[in-house]
Amino acid sequence: MSVMTPPGIKNPGDYIEDVMSTVKAKNAAEPEFHQAVQEVFDSLRLVLQKHPEYRSSKILERITEPERVIMFRVPWFDDRGEIQVNRGFRIEMNSAIGPYKGGLRFHPSVNLGILKFLAFEQVFKNSLTTLPMGGGKGGSDFDPKGKSDNEVMRFCQSFMTELSRHIGPDTDVPAGDIGVGGREIGFMFGQYKRLRNEFTGVLTGKGLSWGGSLIRPEATGYGCVYLAEEMLKSRKDSFEGKLCLVSGSGNVSQYTVEKLLDLGAKPLTFSDSDGVIYDPDGIDREKLAWVMDLKNVRRGRIREYGEKFKKAIFMPTDIKLEHNPLWNIKAACAFPSATQNEIRAKDAANLINNGCKLVAEGANMPCTLEATKMFLEAKVLYGPAKAANAGGVATSGLEMAQNSARLSWTREEVDDRLHKIMIAIHKNCFETAEKYGTPGNLVNGANIGGFLKVANAMLDQGLV
Ligand code: NAP
Repeated sequence: MSVMTPPGIKNPGDYIEDVMSTVKAKNAAEPEFHQAVQEVFDSLRLVLQKHPEYRSSKILERITEPERVIMFRVPWFDDRGEIQVNRGFRIEMNSAIGPYKGGLRFHPSVNLGILKFLAFEQVFKNSLTTLPMGGGKGGSDFDPKGKSDNEVMRFCQSFMTELSRHIGPDTDVPAGDIGVGGREIGFMFGQYKRLRNEFTGVLTGKGLSWGGSLIRPEATGYGCVYLAEEMLKSRKDSFEGKLCLVSGSGNVSQYTVEKLLDLGAKPLTFSDSDGVIYDPDGIDREKLAWVMDLKNVRRGRIREYGEKFKKAIFMPTDIKLEHNPLWNIKAACAFPSATQNEIRAKDAANLINNGCKLVAEGANMPCTLEATKMFLEAKVLYGPAKAANAGGVATSGLEMAQNSARLSWTREEVDDRLHKIMIAIHKNCFETAEKYGTPGNLVNGANIGGFLKVANAMLDQGLV
């Protein structure tokens, strides 16, 4: 129920344009944030027509303004005893349906705009999971690559010393993202516990012996493939024998490849920021185990795959190219799982021309707005990030539930819940797309499905 008095209500198109120009003016030089907001607003035209109360209550103005932005200095000593200074962030975007929840990213490209786009997306994604989680995101421009374990620990301790004032198991529960895996979560959890003298579920992605959940490391990749399986089923198709392209070689990519193998597909590629490996024989379980050791233990580069497996081809990154050769390999399915805007218009054209049937976004916003439009127009099955990679945060939600109950569920139980959540997300997006007159458009389905629950909770809670 709205407590606001309707002012002169504008038509949806004008309202969206007005809010979009204000978002651009107030958040100048944050192109990724503009892109994420624009994509959601494009879907919401259909909703605003039916629900004038969202306009009169200024839901779009409120939902694009973070509830709180925290920015802080992170000083630490490197191994030579020199002082290093990084910048830390936490964006507490929206807590209408639960405590803020979202990952921490450690990467030199991190800035306020990138974290705001990620936090904004997280709000809708978390809503789709059916679990009670608000949206947040954080991180630092710290680069863990090439740092010793001791340096990473000192950085994480300094980062958490400030962050610990702002988070808590009922307030804000961060997790991992790019550059933040089990090692970093461990160092941050240790420091939080020491500062607060509390053993609580303040972070997810924890180690199994200290509160972590089985399947959490696998969840984003597995979930993405579960959702893609539902998408294929909607066209009476399956993964059996399908050639698949996977970008990245981190957490999401590794478990995407593992689940693709379980379902009978043939993954062909991995990448990192140095380049792409293409293995025409397919990446089997043995090769995947080798990549997991390379990336998670030895912390090496993907080019080594080409040296180890002689038939594989390594294509180094060429920043002058307007396309990524990975997306120009003939395959039926594509799983962008590295970073934002990694599929541009030329890449989308290459995929479509090579007969790609399905794109499922393991990474957040890996396709530009233009590329997304091209996939939708070409009737490629397109699973947007908010739906496709929601399995990670959903399983983080399951980790929180286990922590609160002081219980640990079995691997089968967590996997079964994850699978059911992904099926439910697909159903919600599929049916919502149909209900709003755009059948098969899961972008609209995810944006509208995620938005409605949050917007209605905001209306119920008054002007806060
Ligand atoms: P990760 O383990 O750190 O792996 C990231 C991978 O992407 C690495 O291979 C990395 O290569 C590559 N990459 C990162 N930035 C790149 C860039 N600018 N250009 C080229 N390659 C780049 O991270 P992750 O957890 O798998 O996350 C991957 C994506 O999934 C991100 O978009 C993240 O937001 C999204 N996501 C993750 C989760 C989760 O549970 N982890 C959940 C939902 C969504 P280098 O090593 O060379 O940098």
